[in-house]
Amino acid sequence: MLDTTLGKELLEKDEKYVWHSMKPYNPNATLVVEKSKGARITDVDGKEYIEAMAGLFCVNVGYGREELARAAYEQMVVNPYTPLSQGHVPSIKLAEKLNEMLGGDYVIFFSNSGSEANETAFKIARQYHQQKGAASRFKIVSRYRAYHGNTGAALAATGQAERKYRYEPLSPGFLHVAPPDSYRSNEDSYTDSLEIPSVKEVDRVMTWEFSETIAAMILEPIITGGGALVPPEGYLKGIEAVCKKHGALLIVDEVICGFGRTGKPFGFMNYGVKPDIITMAKGLTSAYLPLSATAVKREIYEAFMESGDYDYFRHVNTFGGHPASCALALKNLEIMEKEQLFERSALKGEEMFISLQAQLNTHPLVGDVRGKGLLIGIELVKDKATKEPLELEYVNKVIAMCKEKGVIIGKNGATVAGYNNVLLLSPPLSIPDEDIEIVINTIVEAIYHLNK
Ligand code: PMP
Repeated sequence: MLDTTLGKELLEKDEKYVWHSMKPYNPNATLVVEKSKGARITDVDGKEYIEAMAGLFCVNVGYGREELARAAYEQMVVNPYTPLSQGHVPSIKLAEKLNEMLGGDYVIFFSNSGSEANETAFKIARQYHQQKGAASRFKIVSRYRAYHGNTGAALAATGQAERKYRYEPLSPGFLHVAPPDSYRSNEDSYTDSLEIPSVKEVDRVMTWEFSETIAAMILEPIITGGGALVPPEGYLKGIEAVCKKHGALLIVDEVICGFGRTGKPFGFMNYGVKPDIITMAKGLTSAYLPLSATAVKREIYEAFMESGDYDYFRHVNTFGGHPASCALALKNLEIMEKEQLFERSALKGEEMFISLQAQLNTHPLVGDVRGKGLLIGIELVKDKATKEPLELEYVNKVIAMCKEKGVIIGKNGATVAGYNNVLLLSPPLSIPDEDIEIVINTIVEAIYHLNK
């Protein structure tokens, strides 16, 4: 028997003092974690869980890596802080490393969170066009169902109305287009990427809005938190061509897809494109400390270098590129390389996907199993023929059953359109084989035990 006295006391205080996001309807909200190791977390009552979401899609190397704590400690002892209006050693090494991972040609701006990395990208895109004499280009195109952050412009770019409508009007100049949804369309069957309807839609919007007003398009390679929407093979190539045609920059949000989540160093590398700007966070430090980055093609950076003192990029971030976070990130990337975690993500993701598909495809409530690498979505529907989304109540029941059995899984957001029906899996890339098996068995069992 577990002694639950300590847990009860802490839960009462948690209830009283801590404002959690999403508390009223999140089945995982009543979990107070005390410690963690590998792919497992232990709550204050001593109950262990497999964290099949890696927190919020972010603890990519897994929990309890002492080398990471040591890297941060050692940097703090040597030099705890220098702003990036000056310079410090770990930021230089990390920027060099990220540039190498991205294939060369990028300059890195550091911040603390994914939202800030995207805010930075939007400011750079707008100012870049101004400095090139095209001040009319300010609009940013993004997609419904996508999430890009909780701050002004990042929230404006987000395509999930339930997160936005109480705070409007948000930053102006953001337009939304429909994302590809291979499950509910025949877009996978197109061989010419420019003919894919959701690509043509972007072309149409940029034309009708007038190319001369468009600064950029932002997109995740795979919409993650909005439902693991894997695009048709040629989609990103098509978007890249449309952006070029209209003179818009292509910003790729790698906050979740980056650092091996989709089986490649960065998600866009699955699709053969070369973005102008790339934003990243989460897996960059495996969330051991906050850090994010906005990688910008050198030619864009150089346009800023030609400007005068007033016009230089007036964007300061006190904690952005913190020395301890950068030192830790370097160690994190070293672990990923040494343990070949990107390759592991591709391999284990494929195995998980095949197993889940085989066991769930014929279930009447499972509409679709999809994913890339260790990012997997299971779309639950009321009826396979109509593809009507399963109600949130039942989706939450599956999540609660998994929690009861000691496995933490997630679900997507996009509530106003009725899409709360995709179970999400995004475990640490280092998750042991035995734990993968438990995760699969637990989800399959929960879905088969769902009383509806
Ligand atoms: N972009 C994407 C794709 C995200 O999933 C998130 C966070 N889940 C963000 C941006 C914002 O990151 P943060 O919460 O670190 O601000």
